[in-house]
Amino acid sequence: MTEPYRDFIRDIIDEDMKTGKFDRRVMTRFPPEPNGYLHLGHAKSICLNFGVATEYGGLCNLRFDDTNPVKENEEYVHNIQRDVKWLGFDWDDRLYFASDYFEQLYTHAITLIKRGKAYVDSLSQDEIRAHRGAPGAPGIESPYRDRPVEENLALFRRMREGAFADGTHVLRAKIDMAHPNLVMRDPVLYRIRHAHHHRTGDNWPIYPMYDYTHCLSDSIEGVTHSLCTWEFEINRPLYDWILDALEVYHPQQIEFAPLNVAYTILSKRLYRPLIEKGILSGWDDPRVPTIAGMRRRGYTPASIRAFMERVGVAKKENLIDMALFEYCIREDLNKTSPRVLAVLRPLKVVVINFPEDQVETFDAVNNPEDASMGTRKIPFCREIFIERDDFEENPPKGYFRLAPGQEVRLRYAYYITCTDVVKDADGNVVELRCTYDPASSGGGTPDGRKVKGTIHWVSARHAIDAEVRLYDRLFNNPEPDVTDEEKLPEILNPGSLETLSGCRLEPSLAHADPGSRYQFERIGYFCADSEDSRPDAPVFNRTVTLRDTWAKLQKKDG
Ligand code: ATP
Ligand code: MG
Repeated sequence: MTEPYRDFIRDIIDEDMKTGKFDRRVMTRFPPEPNGYLHLGHAKSICLNFGVATEYGGLCNLRFDDTNPVKENEEYVHNIQRDVKWLGFDWDDRLYFASDYFEQLYTHAITLIKRGKAYVDSLSQDEIRAHRGAPGAPGIESPYRDRPVEENLALFRRMREGAFADGTHVLRAKIDMAHPNLVMRDPVLYRIRHAHHHRTGDNWPIYPMYDYTHCLSDSIEGVTHSLCTWEFEINRPLYDWILDALEVYHPQQIEFAPLNVAYTILSKRLYRPLIEKGILSGWDDPRVPTIAGMRRRGYTPASIRAFMERVGVAKKENLIDMALFEYCIREDLNKTSPRVLAVLRPLKVVVINFPEDQVETFDAVNNPEDASMGTRKIPFCREIFIERDDFEENPPKGYFRLAPGQEVRLRYAYYITCTDVVKDADGNVVELRCTYDPASSGGGTPDGRKVKGTIHWVSARHAIDAEVRLYDRLFNNPEPDVTDEEKLPEILNPGSLETLSGCRLEPSLAHADPGSRYQFERIGYFCADSEDSRPDAPVFNRTVTLRDTWAKLQKKDG
Protein backbone atom coordinates (compact mmCIF):
# COMPACT_ATOMS: atom_id res chain seq x y z
CA MET A 1 0.00 0.00 0.00
CA THR A 2 1.30 3.41 -0.81
CA GLU A 3 -0.18 5.48 2.01
CA PRO A 4 1.28 4.96 5.45
CA TYR A 5 -1.45 3.19 7.31
CA ARG A 6 -2.92 4.38 10.56
CA ASP A 7 -3.97 2.60 13.70
CA PHE A 8 -4.57 3.41 17.34
CA ILE A 9 -0.98 2.58 18.32
CA ARG A 10 0.43 5.01 15.80
CA ASP A 11 -2.09 7.57 17.05
CA ILE A 12 -0.79 7.13 20.59
CA ILE A 13 2.80 7.48 19.42
CA ASP A 14 1.94 10.59 17.39
CA GLU A 15 0.49 12.11 20.52
CA ASP A 16 3.56 11.17 22.57
CA MET A 17 5.77 12.77 19.93
CA LYS A 18 3.70 15.96 20.20
CA THR A 19 3.75 16.13 23.97
CA GLY A 20 7.39 15.15 24.20
CA LYS A 21 6.78 12.08 26.29
CA PHE A 22 9.85 9.80 26.28
CA ASP A 23 11.87 12.75 24.87
CA ARG A 24 10.33 12.04 21.45
CA ARG A 25 12.09 8.70 21.27
CA VAL A 26 10.56 5.49 19.99
CA MET A 27 12.10 2.27 21.20
CA THR A 28 10.27 -1.03 20.83
CA ARG A 29 11.19 -4.67 21.23
CA PHE A 30 10.11 -8.03 19.93
CA PRO A 31 10.20 -10.35 22.94
CA PRO A 32 9.82 -14.04 21.99
CA GLU A 33 10.15 -16.83 24.48
CA PRO A 34 12.55 -19.37 22.93
CA ASN A 35 10.24 -22.32 23.52
CA GLY A 36 9.25 -23.07 19.93
CA TYR A 37 9.26 -21.65 16.43
CA LEU A 38 7.75 -18.33 15.43
CA HIS A 39 4.40 -18.35 13.69
CA LEU A 40 2.25 -15.98 11.66
CA GLY A 41 0.98 -14.31 14.86
CA HIS A 42 4.53 -13.49 15.86
CA ALA A 43 5.08 -12.12 12.37
CA LYS A 44 2.36 -9.59 13.12
CA SER A 45 4.13 -8.53 16.29
CA ILE A 46 7.47 -8.37 14.45
CA CYS A 47 6.06 -6.24 11.61
CA LEU A 48 4.40 -3.96 14.14
CA ASN A 49 7.35 -3.50 16.48
CA PHE A 50 10.03 -3.14 13.83
CA GLY A 51 7.67 -1.23 11.55
CA VAL A 52 6.70 1.37 14.14
CA ALA A 53 10.33 1.86 15.21
CA THR A 54 11.44 2.46 11.63
CA GLU A 55 8.59 4.86 10.85
CA TYR A 56 9.41 7.08 13.83
CA GLY A 57 13.18 6.94 13.40
CA GLY A 58 13.51 4.70 16.42
CA LEU A 59 14.92 1.27 17.11
CA CYS A 60 13.56 -2.17 17.85
CA ASN A 61 15.40 -4.74 19.98
CA LEU A 62 15.22 -8.47 19.70
CA ARG A 63 14.93 -9.76 23.23
CA PHE A 64 14.56 -13.35 24.26
CA ASP A 65 12.28 -13.71 27.24
CA ASP A 66 14.15 -16.74 28.52
CA THR A 67 12.99 -17.23 32.08
CA ASN A 68 11.65 -20.76 31.82
CA PRO A 69 14.75 -22.98 31.56
CA VAL A 70 12.92 -26.27 31.13
CA LYS A 71 11.08 -25.32 27.94
CA GLU A 72 13.72 -23.25 26.20
CA ASN A 73 16.79 -24.09 24.17
CA GLU A 74 19.44 -22.81 21.76
CA GLU A 75 17.82 -24.38 18.70
CA TYR A 76 14.83 -22.12 19.20
CA VAL A 77 17.04 -19.10 19.87
CA HIS A 78 18.89 -19.74 16.62
CA ASN A 79 15.81 -20.32 14.49
CA ILE A 80 13.91 -17.35 15.84
CA GLN A 81 16.77 -15.09 14.76
CA ARG A 82 16.84 -16.71 11.34
CA ASP A 83 13.09 -16.19 10.96
CA VAL A 84 13.08 -12.51 12.00
CA LYS A 85 15.91 -11.83 9.52
CA TRP A 86 14.14 -13.73 6.78
CA LEU A 87 11.07 -11.60 7.30
CA GLY A 88 13.30 -8.63 6.49
CA PHE A 89 14.00 -7.06 9.88
CA ASP A 90 17.26 -6.27 11.61
CA TRP A 91 18.10 -5.60 15.26
CA ASP A 92 21.76 -4.73 14.49
CA ASP A 93 23.73 -5.33 17.65
CA ARG A 94 20.69 -5.11 19.91
CA LEU A 95 20.22 -8.78 20.66
CA TYR A 96 19.25 -9.15 24.29
CA PHE A 97 18.31 -11.91 26.68
CA ALA A 98 16.22 -11.45 29.80
CA SER A 99 18.63 -13.91 31.41
CA ASP A 100 21.39 -11.31 31.00
CA TYR A 101 19.42 -9.19 33.47
CA PHE A 102 19.08 -11.86 36.17
CA GLU A 103 21.60 -10.13 38.45
CA GLN A 104 19.84 -6.76 38.10
CA LEU A 105 16.45 -8.35 38.62
CA TYR A 106 17.72 -10.00 41.76
CA THR A 107 19.03 -6.67 43.08
CA HIS A 108 15.65 -5.06 42.35
CA ALA A 109 13.93 -7.85 44.27
CA ILE A 110 16.09 -7.09 47.30
CA THR A 111 15.03 -3.44 46.99
CA LEU A 112 11.37 -4.46 46.95
CA ILE A 113 11.89 -6.54 50.09
CA LYS A 114 13.68 -3.68 51.82
CA ARG A 115 10.80 -1.38 50.94
CA GLY A 116 8.34 -3.81 52.48
CA LYS A 117 6.86 -4.50 49.01
CA ALA A 118 7.80 -8.14 48.69
CA TYR A 119 7.97 -11.13 51.00
CA VAL A 120 9.03 -14.73 51.02
CA ASP A 121 6.05 -17.01 51.21
CA SER A 122 6.44 -20.60 52.36
CA LEU A 123 3.04 -21.89 51.38
CA SER A 124 2.91 -24.61 48.74
CA GLN A 125 1.89 -23.78 45.18
CA ASP A 126 -1.51 -25.39 45.75
CA GLU A 127 -2.10 -23.40 48.93
CA ILE A 128 -1.20 -20.17 47.18
CA ARG A 129 -3.63 -20.98 44.42
CA ALA A 130 -6.38 -21.90 46.90
CA HIS A 131 -5.82 -18.68 48.87
CA ARG A 132 -6.14 -16.54 45.80
CA GLY A 133 -9.91 -16.29 45.95
CA ALA A 134 -12.06 -15.66 42.92
CA PRO A 135 -13.48 -12.68 41.06
CA GLY A 136 -15.76 -11.00 43.56
CA ALA A 137 -14.44 -13.06 46.47
CA PRO A 138 -11.32 -11.76 48.21
CA GLY A 139 -8.30 -13.99 48.72
CA ILE A 140 -6.75 -14.99 52.01
CA GLU A 141 -3.52 -13.44 53.22
CA SER A 142 -0.65 -15.85 53.71
CA PRO A 143 0.46 -16.40 57.32
CA TYR A 144 3.97 -15.48 56.08
CA ARG A 145 2.85 -12.18 54.64
CA ASP A 146 4.10 -10.08 57.54
CA ARG A 147 7.52 -11.60 57.93
CA PRO A 148 9.98 -8.94 59.03
CA VAL A 149 12.15 -7.46 56.29
CA GLU A 150 15.32 -8.99 57.77
CA GLU A 151 13.83 -12.46 57.73
CA ASN A 152 12.65 -11.99 54.12
CA LEU A 153 16.09 -10.82 53.09
CA ALA A 154 17.79 -13.76 54.76
CA LEU A 155 15.39 -16.28 53.24
CA PHE A 156 15.56 -14.77 49.75
CA ARG A 157 19.38 -14.84 49.88
CA ARG A 158 19.31 -18.48 50.87
CA MET A 159 16.85 -19.17 48.04
CA ARG A 160 19.36 -17.64 45.66
CA GLU A 161 22.19 -19.72 47.20
CA GLY A 162 20.27 -22.87 46.44
CA ALA A 163 19.60 -23.82 50.05
CA PHE A 164 15.98 -24.86 49.44
CA ALA A 165 14.21 -27.45 47.35
CA ASP A 166 11.92 -26.55 44.43
CA GLY A 167 8.52 -25.35 45.54
CA THR A 168 9.38 -24.72 49.19
CA HIS A 169 9.36 -20.90 49.01
CA VAL A 170 8.50 -18.13 46.59
CA LEU A 171 8.98 -14.39 46.57
CA ARG A 172 5.70 -12.52 46.29
CA ALA A 173 4.81 -8.90 45.77
CA LYS A 174 2.93 -7.46 48.73
CA ILE A 175 0.00 -5.73 47.05
CA ASP A 176 -3.57 -6.58 48.04
CA MET A 177 -5.21 -9.97 48.54
CA ALA A 178 -8.63 -8.39 48.08
CA HIS A 179 -7.75 -6.60 44.83
CA PRO A 180 -10.54 -6.88 42.24
CA ASN A 181 -7.92 -7.90 39.66
CA LEU A 182 -6.65 -11.34 40.64
CA VAL A 183 -3.29 -10.63 39.01
CA MET A 184 -2.70 -8.08 41.76
CA ARG A 185 -3.31 -10.48 44.65
CA ASP A 186 0.28 -10.75 45.80
CA PRO A 187 1.65 -12.25 42.55
CA VAL A 188 4.65 -14.53 42.67
CA LEU A 189 7.83 -12.79 41.50
CA TYR A 190 10.39 -15.59 41.95
CA ARG A 191 10.22 -19.33 42.26
CA ILE A 192 12.82 -21.93 43.12
CA ARG A 193 13.80 -24.11 40.23
CA HIS A 194 16.96 -26.18 40.26
CA ALA A 195 17.16 -26.36 36.51
CA HIS A 196 19.92 -25.89 33.98
CA HIS A 197 19.44 -22.77 31.85
CA HIS A 198 20.66 -22.72 28.25
CA ARG A 199 22.59 -19.50 28.88
CA THR A 200 23.19 -19.09 32.60
CA GLY A 201 23.91 -22.77 33.21
CA ASP A 202 23.54 -23.72 36.87
CA ASN A 203 24.13 -20.21 38.25
CA TRP A 204 20.56 -19.68 39.28
CA PRO A 205 18.37 -21.94 41.40
CA ILE A 206 15.67 -19.26 41.34
CA TYR A 207 13.97 -17.82 38.28
CA PRO A 208 11.97 -14.61 37.94
CA MET A 209 8.39 -14.82 36.70
CA TYR A 210 7.28 -13.40 33.35
CA ASP A 211 5.46 -10.33 34.71
CA TYR A 212 8.36 -9.32 36.90
CA THR A 213 10.94 -9.88 34.17
CA HIS A 214 9.10 -8.28 31.33
CA CYS A 215 8.50 -4.80 32.70
CA LEU A 216 12.00 -4.57 34.14
CA SER A 217 13.63 -5.77 30.91
CA ASP A 218 11.67 -3.10 29.04
CA SER A 219 12.78 -0.55 31.60
CA ILE A 220 16.45 -1.56 31.45
CA GLU A 221 16.43 -1.30 27.64
CA GLY A 222 14.75 2.10 27.64
CA VAL A 223 11.76 0.80 25.72
CA THR A 224 9.14 3.50 25.18
CA HIS A 225 6.11 1.62 23.87
CA SER A 226 5.84 -1.96 25.02
CA LEU A 227 3.41 -3.50 22.55
CA CYS A 228 1.77 -6.77 23.46
CA THR A 229 -1.35 -8.77 22.76
CA TRP A 230 -4.53 -7.95 24.62
CA GLU A 231 -4.46 -10.88 27.03
CA PHE A 232 -1.85 -8.89 28.90
CA GLU A 233 -4.24 -6.06 29.57
CA ILE A 234 -5.07 -7.47 33.01
CA ASN A 235 -1.33 -7.68 33.74
CA ARG A 236 -0.77 -4.02 32.96
CA PRO A 237 -1.50 -2.83 36.55
CA LEU A 238 1.22 -5.20 37.73
CA TYR A 239 3.60 -3.99 35.04
CA ASP A 240 3.02 -0.46 36.32
CA TRP A 241 3.08 -1.42 40.01
CA ILE A 242 6.52 -3.06 39.84
CA LEU A 243 8.12 -0.15 38.00
CA ASP A 244 6.50 2.38 40.34
CA ALA A 245 7.48 0.43 43.45
CA LEU A 246 11.08 0.46 42.29
CA GLU A 247 10.94 4.04 41.00
CA VAL A 248 12.70 3.12 37.77
CA TYR A 249 12.23 4.29 34.17
CA HIS A 250 8.70 3.46 33.11
CA PRO A 251 7.77 2.38 29.56
CA GLN A 252 4.14 2.30 28.50
CA GLN A 253 2.47 -1.02 27.81
CA ILE A 254 -0.09 -0.96 24.98
CA GLU A 255 -2.21 -3.96 24.06
CA PHE A 256 -3.46 -4.87 20.59
CA ALA A 257 -5.59 -7.72 19.25
CA PRO A 258 -3.62 -10.83 18.32
CA LEU A 259 -3.84 -12.14 14.79
CA ASN A 260 -6.39 -14.89 14.29
CA VAL A 261 -6.73 -16.65 10.96
CA ALA A 262 -9.57 -18.99 10.04
CA TYR A 263 -8.87 -22.72 9.72
CA THR A 264 -5.63 -22.49 11.61
CA ILE A 265 -4.30 -22.00 15.11
CA LEU A 266 -1.51 -19.69 16.07
CA SER A 267 0.13 -21.21 19.09
CA LYS A 268 3.44 -22.92 19.60
CA ARG A 269 2.07 -24.94 22.46
CA LEU A 270 -0.60 -26.63 20.38
CA TYR A 271 1.64 -27.63 17.48
CA ARG A 272 4.28 -29.24 19.66
CA PRO A 273 2.28 -32.43 20.42
CA LEU A 274 1.27 -32.83 16.76
CA ILE A 275 4.93 -32.61 15.80
CA GLU A 276 6.04 -34.95 18.57
CA LYS A 277 3.45 -37.53 17.52
CA GLY A 278 4.69 -37.34 13.91
CA ILE A 279 1.32 -36.12 12.61
CA LEU A 280 3.17 -33.09 11.29
CA SER A 281 6.64 -33.59 9.86
CA GLY A 282 8.24 -30.88 11.98
CA TRP A 283 8.12 -27.19 12.86
CA ASP A 284 8.70 -26.54 9.16
CA ASP A 285 5.88 -28.75 7.91
CA PRO A 286 4.47 -26.62 5.07
CA ARG A 287 0.97 -26.94 6.54
CA VAL A 288 1.96 -25.25 9.77
CA PRO A 289 1.77 -21.44 9.84
CA THR A 290 5.21 -21.19 11.42
CA ILE A 291 7.56 -18.90 9.58
CA ALA A 292 9.72 -21.96 8.86
CA GLY A 293 6.69 -23.82 7.48
CA MET A 294 5.57 -20.89 5.37
CA ARG A 295 9.10 -20.41 3.99
CA ARG A 296 9.25 -24.06 3.02
CA ARG A 297 5.84 -23.86 1.45
CA GLY A 298 6.99 -20.97 -0.75
CA TYR A 299 5.47 -17.91 0.89
CA THR A 300 7.61 -14.81 0.51
CA PRO A 301 8.62 -12.32 3.22
CA ALA A 302 7.09 -9.54 1.11
CA SER A 303 3.73 -11.32 0.96
CA ILE A 304 3.67 -11.82 4.73
CA ARG A 305 4.49 -8.15 5.32
CA ALA A 306 1.83 -7.07 2.82
CA PHE A 307 -0.69 -9.27 4.59
CA MET A 308 0.11 -7.64 7.93
CA GLU A 309 -0.41 -4.21 6.41
CA ARG A 310 -3.80 -5.21 5.09
CA VAL A 311 -4.84 -6.81 8.36
CA GLY A 312 -3.80 -3.74 10.30
CA VAL A 313 -3.69 -3.32 14.04
CA ALA A 314 -6.83 -3.07 16.13
CA LYS A 315 -7.94 -3.31 19.73
CA LYS A 316 -10.67 -5.81 19.02
CA GLU A 317 -9.99 -9.32 17.91
CA ASN A 318 -11.43 -10.63 14.65
CA LEU A 319 -11.06 -13.68 12.47
CA ILE A 320 -9.10 -13.08 9.30
CA ASP A 321 -9.95 -15.01 6.16
CA MET A 322 -7.10 -17.11 4.80
CA ALA A 323 -8.18 -15.93 1.34
CA LEU A 324 -6.80 -12.48 2.17
CA PHE A 325 -3.39 -13.96 2.94
CA GLU A 326 -3.48 -16.01 -0.24
CA TYR A 327 -4.39 -12.93 -2.21
CA CYS A 328 -1.25 -11.19 -0.90
CA ILE A 329 0.87 -14.19 -1.83
CA ARG A 330 -0.51 -14.38 -5.34
CA GLU A 331 -0.01 -10.69 -5.82
CA ASP A 332 3.68 -11.03 -5.05
CA LEU A 333 4.32 -14.33 -6.82
CA ASN A 334 2.45 -13.20 -9.91
CA LYS A 335 5.09 -10.51 -10.38
CA THR A 336 8.16 -12.40 -9.28
CA SER A 337 7.90 -16.05 -10.23
CA PRO A 338 8.58 -17.44 -13.69
CA ARG A 339 5.82 -19.39 -15.39
CA VAL A 340 6.41 -22.91 -16.50
CA LEU A 341 4.43 -25.81 -17.88
CA ALA A 342 3.80 -28.74 -15.58
CA VAL A 343 1.39 -31.62 -15.82
CA LEU A 344 0.35 -33.00 -12.46
CA ARG A 345 -1.88 -35.91 -13.56
CA PRO A 346 -0.51 -36.87 -16.97
CA LEU A 347 -2.45 -38.29 -19.90
CA LYS A 348 -0.43 -39.28 -22.95
CA VAL A 349 -1.25 -37.73 -26.32
CA VAL A 350 0.24 -38.98 -29.57
CA VAL A 351 0.23 -36.39 -32.32
CA ILE A 352 -0.09 -38.81 -35.18
CA ASN A 353 0.78 -36.49 -38.05
CA PHE A 354 3.92 -35.12 -36.36
CA PRO A 355 7.14 -36.82 -37.54
CA GLU A 356 8.45 -39.43 -35.08
CA ASP A 357 12.02 -38.14 -34.67
CA GLN A 358 11.38 -34.49 -34.99
CA VAL A 359 11.82 -32.02 -32.13
CA GLU A 360 10.58 -28.50 -32.53
CA THR A 361 11.21 -25.75 -30.02
CA PHE A 362 8.95 -22.87 -29.17
CA ASP A 363 9.59 -19.64 -27.36
CA ALA A 364 7.71 -19.32 -24.12
CA VAL A 365 7.34 -16.12 -22.14
CA ASN A 366 8.71 -16.39 -18.60
CA ASN A 367 6.42 -13.77 -17.15
CA PRO A 368 3.96 -11.65 -19.13
CA GLU A 369 3.90 -9.23 -16.15
CA ASP A 370 7.62 -8.58 -16.47
CA ALA A 371 9.25 -8.57 -19.90
CA SER A 372 12.71 -8.37 -18.33
CA MET A 373 12.29 -11.97 -17.19
CA GLY A 374 12.73 -12.96 -20.84
CA THR A 375 11.78 -16.12 -22.70
CA ARG A 376 12.88 -19.74 -22.80
CA LYS A 377 12.71 -22.58 -25.31
CA ILE A 378 10.35 -25.46 -24.80
CA PRO A 379 10.57 -28.65 -26.87
CA PHE A 380 7.65 -30.22 -28.68
CA CYS A 381 7.52 -33.70 -30.17
CA ARG A 382 5.17 -36.41 -31.29
CA GLU A 383 4.33 -37.62 -27.81
CA ILE A 384 3.23 -35.20 -25.17
CA PHE A 385 1.42 -35.24 -21.85
CA ILE A 386 -1.59 -33.16 -21.02
CA GLU A 387 -3.54 -32.85 -17.77
CA ARG A 388 -5.96 -35.76 -17.34
CA ASP A 389 -8.85 -33.42 -16.56
CA ASP A 390 -8.24 -31.34 -19.67
CA PHE A 391 -9.92 -34.12 -21.59
CA GLU A 392 -13.60 -35.14 -21.47
CA GLU A 393 -14.88 -38.02 -23.50
CA ASN A 394 -18.45 -36.78 -23.16
CA PRO A 395 -18.01 -33.06 -22.73
CA PRO A 396 -20.79 -31.04 -21.17
CA LYS A 397 -22.00 -28.00 -23.09
CA GLY A 398 -19.49 -25.18 -22.89
CA TYR A 399 -16.51 -27.46 -22.36
CA PHE A 400 -13.74 -25.90 -24.42
CA ARG A 401 -10.86 -28.18 -23.63
CA LEU A 402 -10.00 -31.41 -25.42
CA ALA A 403 -12.77 -33.81 -26.42
CA PRO A 404 -13.27 -36.24 -29.30
CA GLY A 405 -13.39 -34.21 -32.49
CA GLN A 406 -12.73 -30.96 -30.62
CA GLU A 407 -9.82 -28.65 -31.27
CA VAL A 408 -7.71 -26.88 -28.58
CA ARG A 409 -4.64 -24.74 -28.52
CA LEU A 410 -1.53 -26.17 -26.89
CA ARG A 411 0.03 -23.25 -25.09
CA TYR A 412 2.87 -21.76 -27.21
CA ALA A 413 2.72 -24.68 -29.72
CA TYR A 414 -0.04 -25.91 -32.03
CA TYR A 415 -3.72 -26.51 -32.39
CA ILE A 416 -4.58 -30.16 -31.97
CA THR A 417 -7.77 -32.11 -32.61
CA CYS A 418 -8.61 -35.33 -30.86
CA THR A 419 -9.29 -38.13 -33.31
CA ASP A 420 -9.13 -41.28 -31.20
CA VAL A 421 -9.45 -42.38 -27.61
CA VAL A 422 -7.45 -45.41 -26.46
CA LYS A 423 -8.77 -47.34 -23.44
CA ASP A 424 -7.54 -50.18 -21.30
CA ALA A 425 -9.49 -53.37 -20.56
CA ASP A 426 -11.37 -51.60 -17.74
CA GLY A 427 -12.49 -48.80 -19.99
CA ASN A 428 -10.09 -46.18 -18.59
CA VAL A 429 -8.76 -43.67 -21.03
CA VAL A 430 -5.00 -44.31 -21.30
CA GLU A 431 -4.01 -42.40 -24.41
CA LEU A 432 -5.34 -39.94 -26.95
CA ARG A 433 -4.55 -39.69 -30.60
CA CYS A 434 -4.61 -36.25 -32.11
CA THR A 435 -3.69 -34.44 -35.26
CA TYR A 436 -2.02 -31.05 -35.31
CA ASP A 437 -2.40 -28.18 -37.73
CA PRO A 438 1.08 -27.11 -38.95
CA ALA A 439 -0.35 -23.69 -39.83
CA SER A 440 -1.01 -22.96 -36.16
CA SER A 441 2.67 -22.92 -35.18
CA GLY A 442 3.33 -20.92 -32.03
CA GLY A 443 -0.34 -21.03 -31.11
CA GLY A 444 -1.34 -18.48 -33.72
CA THR A 445 -4.67 -18.38 -35.50
CA PRO A 446 -4.57 -20.05 -38.92
CA ASP A 447 -7.18 -18.70 -41.37
CA GLY A 448 -8.66 -16.61 -38.56
CA ARG A 449 -10.04 -19.81 -37.04
CA LYS A 450 -10.31 -19.46 -33.31
CA VAL A 451 -10.38 -22.07 -30.60
CA LYS A 452 -11.76 -21.28 -27.20
CA GLY A 453 -9.58 -23.55 -25.11
CA THR A 454 -5.85 -23.38 -24.38
CA ILE A 455 -4.27 -26.14 -22.39
CA HIS A 456 -0.77 -26.79 -21.07
CA TRP A 457 1.38 -29.77 -21.98
CA VAL A 458 4.91 -31.13 -21.80
CA SER A 459 6.97 -33.13 -24.26
CA ALA A 460 6.99 -36.79 -23.15
CA ARG A 461 10.56 -37.32 -24.24
CA HIS A 462 11.91 -34.23 -22.49
CA ALA A 463 9.76 -33.90 -19.40
CA ILE A 464 11.22 -34.59 -16.00
CA ASP A 465 9.55 -36.67 -13.35
CA ALA A 466 8.65 -35.03 -10.06
CA GLU A 467 6.75 -35.44 -6.85
CA VAL A 468 4.27 -32.67 -6.11
CA ARG A 469 2.73 -32.06 -2.71
CA LEU A 470 -0.63 -30.34 -2.62
CA TYR A 471 -1.48 -28.62 0.64
CA ASP A 472 -4.83 -27.55 1.93
CA ARG A 473 -6.03 -26.05 5.20
CA LEU A 474 -4.84 -27.98 8.23
CA PHE A 475 -8.03 -27.87 10.27
CA ASN A 476 -11.53 -28.75 9.22
CA ASN A 477 -13.23 -25.92 11.09
CA PRO A 478 -12.75 -22.15 10.69
CA GLU A 479 -12.34 -21.82 14.45
CA PRO A 480 -10.77 -25.06 15.62
CA ASP A 481 -11.82 -26.04 19.12
CA VAL A 482 -8.54 -26.42 20.98
CA THR A 483 -9.91 -26.88 24.49
CA ASP A 484 -8.92 -30.53 24.49
CA GLU A 485 -5.38 -30.94 23.23
CA GLU A 486 -5.77 -34.71 23.09
CA LYS A 487 -8.48 -34.27 20.48
CA LEU A 488 -6.43 -32.07 18.13
CA PRO A 489 -5.59 -34.92 15.74
CA GLU A 490 -9.32 -35.53 15.27
CA ILE A 491 -10.08 -32.04 14.04
CA LEU A 492 -7.40 -32.00 11.36
CA ASN A 493 -8.44 -31.88 7.71
CA PRO A 494 -7.61 -35.37 6.41
CA GLY A 495 -7.01 -33.86 2.96
CA SER A 496 -4.46 -31.31 4.15
CA LEU A 497 -1.72 -33.09 2.21
CA GLU A 498 -2.04 -34.92 -1.07
CA THR A 499 1.14 -36.30 -2.59
CA LEU A 500 1.26 -36.82 -6.34
CA SER A 501 4.05 -38.83 -7.88
CA GLY A 502 4.81 -39.18 -11.56
CA CYS A 503 4.10 -35.55 -12.34
CA ARG A 504 5.78 -34.31 -15.53
CA LEU A 505 7.49 -30.95 -15.65
CA GLU A 506 9.03 -29.07 -18.54
CA PRO A 507 12.78 -29.73 -18.77
CA SER A 508 13.81 -26.23 -17.66
CA LEU A 509 12.89 -27.33 -14.11
CA ALA A 510 15.56 -30.03 -14.05
CA HIS A 511 17.88 -27.93 -11.95
CA ALA A 512 15.43 -25.88 -9.95
CA ASP A 513 17.18 -24.64 -6.84
CA PRO A 514 15.61 -25.74 -3.59
CA GLY A 515 13.34 -22.95 -2.44
CA SER A 516 12.83 -21.49 -5.93
CA ARG A 517 9.30 -20.53 -6.84
CA TYR A 518 7.30 -20.95 -10.05
CA GLN A 519 3.87 -20.54 -11.42
CA PHE A 520 2.75 -23.80 -12.99
CA GLU A 521 0.54 -22.31 -15.66
CA ARG A 522 -3.16 -22.80 -15.08
CA ILE A 523 -2.51 -24.66 -11.79
CA GLY A 524 -0.91 -22.56 -9.10
CA TYR A 525 2.29 -21.41 -7.47
CA PHE A 526 4.85 -24.00 -6.48
CA CYS A 527 8.16 -24.05 -4.68
CA ALA A 528 10.98 -26.60 -4.90
CA ASP A 529 11.10 -28.22 -1.49
CA SER A 530 14.12 -27.08 0.47
CA GLU A 531 14.47 -30.35 2.37
CA ASP A 532 13.55 -33.19 0.05
CA SER A 533 14.05 -31.95 -3.51
CA ARG A 534 17.03 -33.50 -5.35
CA PRO A 535 18.25 -32.78 -8.91
CA ASP A 536 17.40 -36.36 -9.90
CA ALA A 537 14.19 -36.46 -7.85
CA PRO A 538 12.61 -33.02 -7.65
CA VAL A 539 9.87 -32.34 -5.12
CA PHE A 540 7.59 -29.33 -5.38
CA ASN A 541 5.23 -27.88 -2.79
CA ARG A 542 2.08 -26.11 -3.81
CA THR A 543 2.20 -22.69 -2.21
CA VAL A 544 -1.24 -21.58 -3.30
CA THR A 545 -3.70 -22.25 -6.09
CA LEU A 546 -4.39 -19.72 -8.83
CA ARG A 547 -8.02 -19.30 -7.96
CA ASP A 548 -8.52 -16.01 -6.21
CA THR A 549 -11.47 -16.23 -3.88
CA TRP A 550 -10.60 -12.98 -2.09
CA ALA A 551 -10.92 -10.67 -5.10
CA LYS A 552 -14.21 -12.36 -5.92
CA LEU A 553 -15.49 -11.84 -2.39
CA GLN A 554 -14.47 -8.19 -2.53
CA LYS A 555 -16.31 -7.68 -5.81
CA LYS A 556 -19.44 -9.24 -4.41
CA ASP A 557 -19.31 -7.13 -1.25
CA GLY A 558 -18.44 -3.94 -3.13
P1 ATP B 1 2.39 -18.95 21.76
O1 ATP B 1 1.06 -19.03 22.43
O2 ATP B 1 2.36 -19.32 20.34
O3 ATP B 1 3.48 -19.64 22.50
P2 ATP B 1 3.28 -16.57 22.90
O4 ATP B 1 2.58 -15.31 23.02
O5 ATP B 1 3.40 -17.36 24.13
O6 ATP B 1 2.69 -17.41 21.73
P3 ATP B 1 5.84 -15.37 22.80
O7 ATP B 1 7.14 -15.94 22.36
O8 ATP B 1 5.66 -15.03 24.21
O9 ATP B 1 4.74 -16.42 22.35
O10 ATP B 1 5.43 -14.14 21.87
C1 ATP B 1 6.30 -13.12 21.47
C2 ATP B 1 5.50 -11.92 21.08
O11 ATP B 1 4.63 -12.23 20.00
C3 ATP B 1 4.63 -11.44 22.22
O12 ATP B 1 4.77 -10.04 22.33
C4 ATP B 1 3.25 -11.85 21.83
O13 ATP B 1 2.30 -10.97 22.36
C5 ATP B 1 3.32 -11.78 20.31
N1 ATP B 1 2.32 -12.66 19.71
C6 ATP B 1 2.11 -13.97 19.95
N2 ATP B 1 1.06 -14.44 19.27
C7 ATP B 1 0.56 -13.40 18.56
C8 ATP B 1 -0.54 -13.23 17.65
N3 ATP B 1 -1.35 -14.23 17.33
N4 ATP B 1 -0.74 -12.00 17.12
C9 ATP B 1 0.07 -10.98 17.40
N5 ATP B 1 1.11 -11.07 18.25
C10 ATP B 1 1.37 -12.26 18.83
MG1 MG C 1 4.01 -15.71 25.75
